[in-house]
Amino acid sequence: MSDDLFLRIIQREIPADIVYENDQVLAFRDIEPQAPVHILVIPKVRIPTVNDLTPEQAGYVSAMFLAAKEVAQQEGIADSGYRLVMNCNEDGGQSVYHIHLHVLGGRALTWPPG
Ligand code: AMP
Repeated sequence: MSDDLFLRIIQREIPADIVYENDQVLAFRDIEPQAPVHILVIPKVRIPTVNDLTPEQAGYVSAMFLAAKEVAQQEGIADSGYRLVMNCNEDGGQSVYHIHLHVLGGRALTWPPG
């Protein structure tokens, strides 16, 4: 059994509220939403942090952004606006070590972050 929580979601070993999927990425609702819409977009390969990204994996990164755009449209927040966030390591606030794009929207978000 993998210790990568999000890989276990990809493999359907643990449940998730999946909202979008293609051959490269999966998107599902965050279990602890920080906004009315809070969805995580993940690649279907294990990349622990942004620091581990290789040039060969660049296609996954573009697939994540394209999926985020689709999800925002699906959720009805594309026009009102949304934020895409990817945290890296401890100071960045990363808690799950499988890269993921947070798609946050459905309310006005403050800036700068705390
Ligand atoms: P980060 O802190 O940037 O690594 O984000 C990890 C996110 O994963 C947090 O927002 C968590 O609420 C979310 N999360 C953790 N476990 C699950 C799960 N089983 N299903 C959905 N979201 C999760």
